[in-house]
Amino acid sequence: MSQQKTALVLGAGGFIGEHIAKHLTEKGWWVRGVDIKRHEHKESSCQEFVLADLREQTNVRSVVDRKFDMVFQLAADMGGAGYINTNLHDADVMHNSATINLNVLDACYRRSVNQVFFSSSACVYNEHLQSSTTDPDCREESAYPAYPDSEYGWEKLFTERLCLAYNRQHGMRNKVARFHNIFGEYGTWQGGKEKSPAAICRKVAMANNMDEIEIWGDGKQTRSFLHVDDCVDAVMKLMECDTFSGPVNIGSERMVSIDDLVDIVAKIANKNVIKKHIPGPQGVRGRTSNNDLIRKELNWEPKLTLEQGLEKTYNWINQQVKNSQGK
Ligand code: NAD
Repeated sequence: MSQQKTALVLGAGGFIGEHIAKHLTEKGWWVRGVDIKRHEHKESSCQEFVLADLREQTNVRSVVDRKFDMVFQLAADMGGAGYINTNLHDADVMHNSATINLNVLDACYRRSVNQVFFSSSACVYNEHLQSSTTDPDCREESAYPAYPDSEYGWEKLFTERLCLAYNRQHGMRNKVARFHNIFGEYGTWQGGKEKSPAAICRKVAMANNMDEIEIWGDGKQTRSFLHVDDCVDAVMKLMECDTFSGPVNIGSERMVSIDDLVDIVAKIANKNVIKKHIPGPQGVRGRTSNNDLIRKELNWEPKLTLEQGLEKTYNWINQQVKNSQGK
């Protein structure tokens, strides 16, 4: 009988980390999850869940206590535009995430772990190449010369380079992917750290027919969105590939405006809502994934349409809203 595979999921109390842990346990892996908090919306799928602050080097060394087959590093101080594009959390975002990443790479190298997955972000891309709503340039190589629009993006670029430096100097096979707006069930949907699909689902779920809902900016800013099931699928393909380390985009190429996103969610909810555009943090004007590289290297495409992903997500958030209202 072959030995059971082992994985360490850092950030397992968060949205994508829990989805990765669930996928691995369903495939028969033994998974240790670590986070500074428990998952807010469900029981952990990990066989073992450790509550620990990964900014502390001793904590990181104690959870990386063996040669795991794979380590997934998703722990980060992050949130949507209301968190990373407001200047209010910049020092925390840089300090906390960089400290975690320095600790994790060092501890994994010491334990001879070969492969760490690092979740970078579309926020690494050059602000000047994303000033139009129609043709932003997010090809992987366009990240340099670098000019991310947030400190969150600068920290991600630093850690991308750190992962690849360990590959060059120490022969590790770390993998780097740049996520583009991942959304889905069991994600943050309120409280200030939620991202736009979850915030819009919540606002529509709370609205009565013909109510106004507030949208940050003029609603014409564009983005693409990827359902978390497709994200997990792409992460596993990257980890299983022997010939390619990234950085590579993991996202959808279907670019929509924020107003379009509201219309799609309202249609799913079968409600008419009136959009009220108010000043608020927006990030870059246009952004979408360019999937040429992932198609070529991993032969990967998203399977769910935006409408299918949003329907699953809306139904889950609608239920959370009802639960919170005691309905
Ligand atoms: P999330 O906030 O749900 O998960 C991150 C987890 O890290 C949280 O559970 C948090 O408690 C944990 N964490 C933070 N500080 C910690 C610490 N000091 N010690 C231990 N745990 C700590 O976010 P997510 O959406 O699941 O994102 C996962 C990763 O993917 C992050 O690195 C994020 O930057 C990256 N990413 C996500 C998206 C997206 O659209 N969701 C896009 C680009 C990149």
